[in-house]
Amino acid sequence: MESFIKIAYFLTIILFIFGLKRMSSPATARSGIVWAGVAMLVAVMATFFWPGLQNIALILVATITGGAAAWVSGKKVEMTDMPQMVAIYNGMGGGSAAGIAAVELLRGDIHSSGILTLSVVGGLIGALAFSGSMVAFAKLQGIIGGRPITFPKQQLINVILFVLAVISGIGLVVGDGGATMITIFFLLVLAFGIGVTLPIGGADMPVVISLFNALTGMAVGFEGFAMDNAAMIVAGTVVGAAGTLLTQMMAKAMNRSITQVLFGAFGQEEEGGAADGIEGSLKPIEGDDAAIMMGYASKIIIVSGYGMAVAQAQHKVREMADLLQEKGVEVKYAIHPVAGRMPGHMNVLLAEAGVPYEQLFDLEEINAEFSTADVALVIGANDVVNPRAKTERSSPIYGMPVLDVENAKNVLVIKRGKGTGFAGIENELFYRDQTRMLYGDAQAVVSDLIQQIKQI
Ligand code: NDP
Repeated sequence: MESFIKIAYFLTIILFIFGLKRMSSPATARSGIVWAGVAMLVAVMATFFWPGLQNIALILVATITGGAAAWVSGKKVEMTDMPQMVAIYNGMGGGSAAGIAAVELLRGDIHSSGILTLSVVGGLIGALAFSGSMVAFAKLQGIIGGRPITFPKQQLINVILFVLAVISGIGLVVGDGGATMITIFFLLVLAFGIGVTLPIGGADMPVVISLFNALTGMAVGFEGFAMDNAAMIVAGTVVGAAGTLLTQMMAKAMNRSITQVLFGAFGQEEEGGAADGIEGSLKPIEGDDAAIMMGYASKIIIVSGYGMAVAQAQHKVREMADLLQEKGVEVKYAIHPVAGRMPGHMNVLLAEAGVPYEQLFDLEEINAEFSTADVALVIGANDVVNPRAKTERSSPIYGMPVLDVENAKNVLVIKRGKGTGFAGIENELFYRDQTRMLYGDAQAVVSDLIQQIKQI
């Protein structure tokens, strides 16, 4: 039976790696998710054949309950709420690794100090990822404010919590352990996870969630070693490596170092402070005038953001772009790496609407081209096109690479009103001379533009 389980785990490992490989391209990502899901199913099924497995009824109840909750919430969740969902699922992974660590530590007398060390390290990382992810979820869900929550001596308290957690962890390896000591260890780590995440502002949350994701992977990997479970080791390592890479890429996209993210209390600026010094006014434009501007343009660059996702306007955007192309207009899409609410959000939506991949251009590829565009059409994007990120040191998004939309000859901005973006700050672009505001829900405005362009 053990050989059968080992073969099943080997198959799982191959499927995980195969699935991850397919996730590297938007064209194959969906099937990558399916293969990784099949891998997980194989691993779970194989585990039921583990010799001497007890509490099968309880395991079944937990698996069915968890699986059903994930299925229902996965079906229901809006794309725009995906970061919260990733945070909560990721936290569950960390919590599970911590749970495994707790069980292995409780059985401490049968383990070598090497296994206990692995359990403690995995437990520490897993519990940290769990409580940190829960705070990240609460912030993104609006349960607690998205702004940094700070108080005096916060960093010192965090350091003390961490040091005490490490000392109690060492105590668990070298001492007798016991339930009380294990509980103290986990309470300290959980408190540290909360303490370290509270001062992080909402705009840094995606990076933090990705970091916790990497930590969860590592925790699972450590627990895999502790339990001598190859599938867990490989799955954990793969998640840890992918999460670390993603964290680095996102930090780079926002020009934030991991240290800044964790200890910078990003977004501490006073409300309204970033609007200071913006000159000019918001200048509205009617749909028919905007349609004429676009219909007679040679080149248009479309920049989509969170608002397009909220309005689910991607299909209409594609229809409009097709129409413009039929009229001989060159249309390109500029993709900012953190536009929307999750990495790759715009790629996913535009791909879903059938926009050819060749028309999607990353920030580095497209930025030099804005100066050659007659029109830059900004659809529900805000922070990712804010020129103040380049000039205003006091801005919470200072240093984040942004799309150089202001270099286009004309800028059209579709948004509903004067709402700010995720970082909660005014956007200088909207006040520039060449910018015109097309107010309304993105889907309604683009539908109207389609009708107007047809009449040109
Ligand atoms: P923003 O959140 O900065 O701006 C979105 C804009 O869309 C708002 O100004 C809003 O203005 C407008 N809007 C909202 N609903 C609609 C609608 N129905 N129709 C038309 N417009 C609408 O979006 P960006 O994509 O520019 O920037 C993403 C931000 O999110 C960045 O700050 C990034 O750091 C952060 N973030 C990114 C994550 C990621 O991984 N991609 C994850 C978490 C955060 P109005 O209310 O006036 O309509």
